[in-house]
Amino acid sequence: MNDDTILVINCGSSSLKFALFNATTLACIASGLAEKLSTPGATLSIKNGDTKSSANLNNADHSAAIAHVIESLKSISLLTKDPLGIGHRVVHGGEAFSDSVPIDNRVIAEIQKCAALAPLHNPANLLGIELMAELYPSVPQVAVFDTAFHQSLPETSYLYPIPYQLYTEHGIRRYGFHGTSHKYVAEIAANKLNKPLNQCNLITAHLGNGCSVTAIKQGVSVDTSMGLTPLEGLMMGTRSGDIDPGLFEFLCKTGMSSDSISQMLNKESGLKGLSGETNDMRTLFELADNGHERASLAIDVFCFKLVKYIAAMAASLPSIDALVFTGGIGENADRIRAAALEKLSIFGFKLSQELNNTNGESSGGRITEEGSTLAYVIPTNEELVIAKDTLKYAKK
Ligand code: ADP
Repeated sequence: MNDDTILVINCGSSSLKFALFNATTLACIASGLAEKLSTPGATLSIKNGDTKSSANLNNADHSAAIAHVIESLKSISLLTKDPLGIGHRVVHGGEAFSDSVPIDNRVIAEIQKCAALAPLHNPANLLGIELMAELYPSVPQVAVFDTAFHQSLPETSYLYPIPYQLYTEHGIRRYGFHGTSHKYVAEIAANKLNKPLNQCNLITAHLGNGCSVTAIKQGVSVDTSMGLTPLEGLMMGTRSGDIDPGLFEFLCKTGMSSDSISQMLNKESGLKGLSGETNDMRTLFELADNGHERASLAIDVFCFKLVKYIAAMAASLPSIDALVFTGGIGENADRIRAAALEKLSIFGFKLSQELNNTNGESSGGRITEEGSTLAYVIPTNEELVIAKDTLKYAKK
């Protein structure tokens, strides 16, 4: 068996996700998650085919967790030699990166600069890069940015109508996120449409814990719902999405600090905030089915915001070849898709209940009837995109 591999790392502030790919077939041979790092509850779970294992890491920090991951992969003979390349998810690439890049000192310095715009994410991403460079100094490392795909946004989409020097002096503009996912599902949709991507006009909806929609005109991102930070746009699991910026001043005057307002908008809002229960859509469905009124309300507001934003994305497109749903909610929650498409009939969508109920499994992802504007369910695979981009710069 060919044992050349590509390792993909997604290093968060208290977690570390990884995926190991066969460098020849690009099959994922193992994946896992270390979470609650630097706490007594730190754990590592690894999936390798149908085998799942988990271990308590007991206060392990990122460095110890990475060592555990590598040791575990070696002990089950999945990492018999150094990987050919290591790919990192990096959240914010600012205006410096419109594509994935091999990591060198200049790239590290740019990612550091962007940390002001993503203080929770970029420092953690950099830590992952540093730790892997220590372990594998001669293996090429590649940075894959969430923002890169959206660097094609026109000024009309990326500028906020605030004093222009805030953009020129502080980089305050809309950047957009989930780019790797939007790009991946757009490529798959183009395949399904049997057209080159640069001839496709698409709306892609990534609905997971974080949610965003993107307008893709002739293959490039021309508008997206997230902005300077991943807080803007749709209602999400715990994030509010769009609110009146005047809310900030109002709450400050009630005595709330800016940190607590930010915490409330990022962690206590969205589905969780409105339902008063949870950010988990599956649980909300159960609650709503049992008569929980605010769970139903949270779902209804989620759908309304989604429909509004999908319609707003259409403003940037000459036509819609297809609407794509992805992410945990987009891929699985048939009733969210049904509620959205029902309200979007103005764009020619006619839902097929039958195809939608089975997530388009029997129709290559299509969930609409013959003669309708097309809508698809397409599972995302950000790790695979990172592995593919890393392979371009891997050791030959
Ligand atoms: P993340 O953004 O953290 O990667 P996911 O893309 O996994 O998250 O999406 C998580 C969301 O998907 C949760 O709200 C979860 O309830 C929802 N979800 C997953 N499976 C289903 C399902 N079968 N039906 C409805 N919602 C689902």
